Amino acid sequence: MKKTIKDYEYTGKKVIIRCDLNVPIKDGHITDETRIKESLESINYLINHNAKVIVMSHLGKVKTEEDKKENTLYPVYLKLKKYLNTKVYFSKETKGSLLEDMVDSLKEKEVLLVENTRYEDVPNKLESTCDESLSKYWAGLADIFIDDAYGASHRAHASNVGIAKYLPNAVGFLVEKEITKIDNVLKENTHPYTVIMGGKKISDKIIVIDNLIKKCDYLLVGGGMCFTLLKASGYNVGMSIVDDENIKYSKNLLKNYEDKIILPIDIVTKDNKIKDISDMQDEDIGYDIGPKTIEKFSAILSKSKRVIVNGPMGVFEEKPFDNGTKEIYKCLKENKVKTLIGGGDSAASVNTLGFGNDFYHISTGGGATLEYLSGKPLPGIEIIDNKREK
Ligand code: ADP
Ligand code: MG
Repeated sequence: MKKTIKDYEYTGKKVIIRCDLNVPIKDGHITDETRIKESLESINYLINHNAKVIVMSHLGKVKTEEDKKENTLYPVYLKLKKYLNTKVYFSKETKGSLLEDMVDSLKEKEVLLVENTRYEDVPNKLESTCDESLSKYWAGLADIFIDDAYGASHRAHASNVGIAKYLPNAVGFLVEKEITKIDNVLKENTHPYTVIMGGKKISDKIIVIDNLIKKCDYLLVGGGMCFTLLKASGYNVGMSIVDDENIKYSKNLLKNYEDKIILPIDIVTKDNKIKDISDMQDEDIGYDIGPKTIEKFSAILSKSKRVIVNGPMGVFEEKPFDNGTKEIYKCLKENKVKTLIGGGDSAASVNTLGFGNDFYHISTGGGATLEYLSGKPLPGIEIIDNKREK
């Protein structure tokens, strides 16, 4: 068990909290505030426990001086000011005397947001190479470090792993919730245990497949991914998305896990025709799973005790190709199956299709969750101190 935010006293202490405030911004306006809202619980906990709160986050990619202008956290600062019931300040510097003065004059219950940590990537990538002197410098500004940036935890950067090396530390509420819930689904011993995968490319998901297939009872495959497996089984998949480099991998997978892998039996083409897999022609492009497949998948999902969903069943951004994804979610919801949704687009599809409150856990960390599901430790979380065993 990792130490959590509740394991320290904060009165009068300077606390750095690393959040994931990497929100989408268009023309200076934030288009989705979810990450800001989700970060408020831990920040408010620190405020309510009389800390001097220093908030850090990255935003976008910063590779040149030009990138800095587009990726300032200033719009996020305005939102924090709006949502937090206390004084909130903004430091334009990520290092230097202005930042140090602002930290020194911070009072209990006040908040200071520091500019985008990735400004330190220009010119020498100090943030993303976890530079030791930068890590020590940031750690020197505070007494305690809280890591609540789950979405960044698959990266070992100065602002998470680096600072944690030099300060007493703990995870925040968001990270605690993510790892507890994902571990619950991965580790509980209930069966049937089903993994349903889709999305675009099989190459993005091979490490996830390799890890999960050993433990699950069924792997259902839809989305764009299924066409590489169908082609490997000898079907003509027309012009559907295929990853030719992974045909051989797919053949081996199908051979080794014949009993576990279930592929679509029909699909919906881009020109909206339902076709059995064996009837696909050279010009067909598969865009969604078909009704017989939905039925077949639903029969397995409805009797499953736990399910991991990674990747939508079709091009859900375009109607009517959201149907397969929607029907699968409907089945999981109606049968109250313990369901973990992992993956950036999967989480987006659950929300846009109206199932945002219907599952055991919808993970917010796209890349981080995929790495965790592939069995890799997350460096941002590994580095955090363990609770002392009683
Ligand atoms: P996640 O982010 O949940 O891991 P991916 O990034 O792997 O998921 O895949 C999401 C994308 O896959 C979506 O943009 C969706 O349009 C696309 N997709 C799903 N089915 C197909 C298909 N049959 N052909 C092409 N793209 C597809
Ligand atoms: Mg994605």
